[in-house]
Amino acid sequence: MFRFVLKKSRHRIFKAKQSDDAKEILNRINTYLHENAEEPVELLTRFWDDQQKAITYQELRQIVLAGLVSVEQIEEWRKDYSVLVNNSLKTLWETAIKAGAYSQPLLDDKTFSFDMTYPGVQNWIKERGSAFVTAITDEQRKAVSSLLLRGVEQNSSVDEVARNIRTCIGLTSRQSIAAANLYEHTKQALRKQHPRMWDSTIETKARHTAQMYAERAHRQRAMNIARTEMAYAYNQGADFGIRQAYRENLIGAYKKVWTTSGDEGVCSYCAGLDGKEVGMDGNFGFGRGLFGTEGELPPAHPNCACAIEYIEIEPPTFQGLIVKDVTDEYINDATPGIGKVEMEKGYKAGSRQNEVETAQWLHDTLGGDIVLLKESDKDSQKMPDFLWKNKLWELKNTTTIKSADDAIRRGLKQIIGNPGGIILDYGRNEIEIQELERLIESRIRRKRTVQVDIMIILQKKLEKVLRYKK
Ligand SMILES: [Zn+2]
Repeated sequence: MFRFVLKKSRHRIFKAKQSDDAKEILNRINTYLHENAEEPVELLTRFWDDQQKAITYQELRQIVLAGLVSVEQIEEWRKDYSVLVNNSLKTLWETAIKAGAYSQPLLDDKTFSFDMTYPGVQNWIKERGSAFVTAITDEQRKAVSSLLLRGVEQNSSVDEVARNIRTCIGLTSRQSIAAANLYEHTKQALRKQHPRMWDSTIETKARHTAQMYAERAHRQRAMNIARTEMAYAYNQGADFGIRQAYRENLIGAYKKVWTTSGDEGVCSYCAGLDGKEVGMDGNFGFGRGLFGTEGELPPAHPNCACAIEYIEIEPPTFQGLIVKDVTDEYINDATPGIGKVEMEKGYKAGSRQNEVETAQWLHDTLGGDIVLLKESDKDSQKMPDFLWKNKLWELKNTTTIKSADDAIRRGLKQIIGNPGGIILDYGRNEIEIQELERLIESRIRRKRTVQVDIMIILQKKLEKVLRYKK
């Protein structure tokens, strides 16, 4: 289903002795691919089975008589594959990304929590989904076209070509031709060996043999797709994880080292990449590999089970964090009850009672213009809750000290465009304020740069506002 252009690497290739970490990384990816293939394989084979049954004999005849697959039929398949992506493959990619994100021994001893909501992660899944649908629909069209062409060349009957097409839905063109050839050869062999056998019996037997082959081929292709898709997402997840850890200052600058299992199963191409080192954003020079990547990460080809070892080359750089209690500043600047509270067009007040109440509280306590912002139309994009004095603010209703960690991590991202601050509203809960401050600081320390005010509300009263700058 994929086309590859493998460029010979121009860089010097050197064989490095594999580290224990590299062995562990390969062990983890191989275990993952091995243990998780069964479900997607079942799913894909069942899917193709349904797709074969969905097309009527009449429709198949139409394709053969017209000599091409109609635009409507291709559209139908494209829709089928989109449903497959949304219902199943998305979850497969997500799960593999997550597993990959925790796959590097470099992060084993770090307090690292992978963030699936990061826009890069969601975009990757979306792009991968549409590339998958396009590639697999196209391969299906090609497979049928090659059977039609073969039918003309061999002067086959309409009925035989139609039956070949049904058997081959879900196979690559190469596999489809192999199944059709097998049918023809079996038929000829039977005719030779059993000259008195009826034509209809011969055809039934040959059809059965071709179907058995097609079943194996479907499974093989499903396995190939499942492993490749998982390897792709897993390696991508490893990279996302490392990048997040770097952003959070858990690790410093790093390099990437290509690692292959080194056994006889490795193709000569990947054996050549083994041990090759590049920088953080470097690519391994295998050109436009799977779906147009620049060769930054494995897999390099279908069924490739290579991985990357990430090696830290510098400790993380900690910049000084300035923390300032600005509570008095806020109180001195307060203009209680002055200013407007507005809702952005399309704001759904009914489902966001907490926000509306807090906005009102802000207005009554500190004053200033407030605009309640509606949610983003895009699922993956989280919007901040309000604009207060022309800056973005996010409200987090929290109950425990621990939950503030996640609230701040998310909140910082939501206000990133024009940071005002994050409000931690503890409602009627009792909390130990010093402990909370320690936790906020340790979360913010992980950021490379930051500028945020954190407002703590306890028992409906302004407890404290802290300013963090780095
Ligand atoms: Zn490989």
